[in-house]
Amino acid sequence: MPLSPKDAWKRILDDAKRELPAHAIQSWLTPAEPLGIEGSRLILGAPDQFAVNWNEEKHAALLARLAEPVLGHGAEVVFKVLEERQKRPQMDFFVAPPAEAAPLASAPVNPSNQPLNDRYSFDNFVIGKSNEMAAAAAGAVAEAPGKTYNPLFIYGATGLGKTHLMQAIAHRVLEREPHTRVLYIGAERFINEVIEGIHGRSMQDLRRRYRSEVDLFLVDDVHFLEGKEATQEEFFHTFNSLYGEKKQIVLTSDRPPTEMPGLEARLVSRFQAGMVVDVGQPDLEHRIAILRKKKEQDHLETAIPDEVLAFIAEHVASNVRELEGCIIKLILYGSLRKREITIETAREALADKIRPSGGETVAPRHLPTIDKVQEIVAKRWGVTPEGLRSKARIKTLTVPRQIAMYLAREMLQMQLVEIGQSFGGRDHSTVIHSVDKVQQQLQRDRAFRERVESARQELLAQ
Ligand code: ADP
Ligand code: MG
Repeated sequence: MPLSPKDAWKRILDDAKRELPAHAIQSWLTPAEPLGIEGSRLILGAPDQFAVNWNEEKHAALLARLAEPVLGHGAEVVFKVLEERQKRPQMDFFVAPPAEAAPLASAPVNPSNQPLNDRYSFDNFVIGKSNEMAAAAAGAVAEAPGKTYNPLFIYGATGLGKTHLMQAIAHRVLEREPHTRVLYIGAERFINEVIEGIHGRSMQDLRRRYRSEVDLFLVDDVHFLEGKEATQEEFFHTFNSLYGEKKQIVLTSDRPPTEMPGLEARLVSRFQAGMVVDVGQPDLEHRIAILRKKKEQDHLETAIPDEVLAFIAEHVASNVRELEGCIIKLILYGSLRKREITIETAREALADKIRPSGGETVAPRHLPTIDKVQEIVAKRWGVTPEGLRSKARIKTLTVPRQIAMYLAREMLQMQLVEIGQSFGGRDHSTVIHSVDKVQQQLQRDRAFRERVESARQELLAQ
């Protein structure tokens, strides 16, 4: 019996998991849906055009190779936009997202407990290179609290998802075990309670609440404990008591335990006893994936075009909270001024957040224009500039086109989106792919390197 599209895809995807990083699978391939098999061609649906292009560029060739044993010789994997998504009406940003499950009746009654944010779930957390270790450790802890890594210590700069991951653990555990007594508290709040406890002589009560009525203890931003001796003393005993009972402890901080000089050595060593993981800054690809997730979450299916998301991702590299802030600001700006959301609107709305584009301030007179780059590359590779800007995909054009894109990126520091526009409205993922390809060939092919270098020299001499 011939294989169903679903079974075929499952086998190919399983193999792909061995070849691609987990974040690529999660962001790009898991959302794909097998739609049909035509001969040795598997058709997959992706949520939108951007995902289609991205998958075609980055994954189609690998998938086709993996599909051979499943679909036969000359197997192909093609992507198309899922129709159901295409038809989905645009929703208003200001409509609140659908309410999630009501708070559990058994929610812990500990008065110190700060509420968990419903949106901080594993499902909403986008994994990339910068956080895959942390996400994996958090996942493992959520599956077997108190058994794998205890404590789990997550550190990293602000706005990179520490609180989100920590709370995702709580959500996952509560889903499975609704009676778990979760205590989530910011270290600052803990400090205040200890100070009040000392002065109000209610330490007994405080100790009971922390030491014997908690199953999952989440303490956010423990770097605030530095230099607070009385609190550290109290915290040390709380920690030991919960740890001794095999209760899971999760801590976050802006620094690793080893870089907290204001913390007693015995706490530093406790903090390091389980697993210490960091979250870093997401790279461009990861930032785009995060923005797309936010867009999905907030039902912004069509309000912000993908090229604008890519533009934001390129300009705002600091942290995820900033990225979110940009989307909110942009939507507000567009709606107040009744403007369609385009790159231009984004440039205006986010003027304070985006870095100026390089070429304008740095020695502008020495840089050629993009037209000049196209002209010289076309001349040297024996084609026309119109050919470079056309959609034609013949090899005589694709090679010089990729070189011209590479030079535009390297010499003019143009943004990916702008380069795409200068080459007949191509997608920024195509530009990334082209620049990568040229860089790879430059490394291994000396004749190619010399040819590109001499084009560069001619451009610099203009
Ligand atoms: P931190 O505690 O490290 O300062 P947060 O956990 O508060 O950062 O994250 C800041 C914001 O960014 C939150 O709204 C969070 O949901 C979001 N965020 C951070 N990392 C991710 C990610 N990998 N995927 C999705 N959202 C993220
Ligand atoms: Mg935080």
